Amino acid sequence: MGSLAAIISEAKQARSTSLPAKDIISEIYKGYIEEDSWKQKKSFAPSGLFYGSGACSRRWVLSFQGNHYESKASPLDFARMKGGTKSHERIEDAIQKSGVARAIELELHNEDPPIHAYADAVIEYDGITYVGEIKTTTHENFEYRRNTNKIADYHLGQILICMRLAKIDKGIIIYESTKTNELHGIIVEMTKEHSEYVDNVLQWCRDVWELYETETLPERSFRKGTKVCSKCPVEKACDDRPVGVGKMRKLPVI
Ligand code: SF4
Repeated sequence: MGSLAAIISEAKQARSTSLPAKDIISEIYKGYIEEDSWKQKKSFAPSGLFYGSGACSRRWVLSFQGNHYESKASPLDFARMKGGTKSHERIEDAIQKSGVARAIELELHNEDPPIHAYADAVIEYDGITYVGEIKTTTHENFEYRRNTNKIADYHLGQILICMRLAKIDKGIIIYESTKTNELHGIIVEMTKEHSEYVDNVLQWCRDVWELYETETLPERSFRKGTKVCSKCPVEKACDDRPVGVGKMRKLPVI
């Protein structure tokens, strides 16, 4: 073991060489961040409806009016999203090459209420057609989905809307573990209960669209300071605008 002076000098050296490395990494992290921007949505997106602020009518009316969108995600959130996009492309490529694809990235539209979406894939297997949705997830969550065969509610809502728009009554959610790249599929059926749920969601969207068309800004669906509001992209616009007229119910849950 060296003298105390030698140990201190070595520690100082290590600190001075690791400092620029940390600073460089901090700079690289900044490269993931997407800037705030002004956006005006023209339609509902199933991928944004069933999670967090998607359940808030005020958020959608503010989005349709056009407002400043704040980028609330951290650099690591952006890194995960970009990783998810790459994984989607890889799995879609495999679906295509395997021969079960009838379509990849099928564009879907609905007039009333206005909805625009892309189904990741339309798969045909053994004479049956399925809407396919790919979801990458942590290995712990993947194990849970595989062991229980349970779909996350917000994934179920999204695929049911895509199934309705595509007029296909079967679907498959394909989960991928981000750790092992294993895949697990769970079949979704458009049962009577699911169909009634979709009707309910579509009616909610129509009601929100009508608020927008009549220039009626509803009251907040979530209290200021809640986790949902802190992640909402139009939080600042929401805070700056008047209290609103009447409280509309949140998006129905399944
Ligand atoms: S900040 Fe909260 S209440 Fe306001 S629009 Fe967003 S989700 Fe709704």
